[in-house]
Amino acid sequence: MGRRKSKRKPPPRRKLIQNLEKHFKCPFCNHERSCDVVLDMSRKLGRIACQICHEFFQTTIISLSEPIDVYNDWIDACDENNK
Ligand SMILES: [Zn+2]
Repeated sequence: MGRRKSKRKPPPRRKLIQNLEKHFKCPFCNHERSCDVVLDMSRKLGRIACQICHEFFQTTIISLSEPIDVYNDWIDACDENNK
């Protein structure tokens, strides 16, 4: 009598619907989707710039960084400056 091996469950499918939005609302001029993010993986730099008011921000990234991370850093930096 062997114990039943645990039933093999297929791994849950990762949802492929990821939020890979690359256009964000500008914290300076408040235009929707006016900010573009560029991830420069070779130099580990993330850049975001507004096409309307030309404000821009640059931060260091890691290989797992996504555009939203750069944007969040920017917003954080803005908050710091506003203190
Ligand atoms: Zn702007």
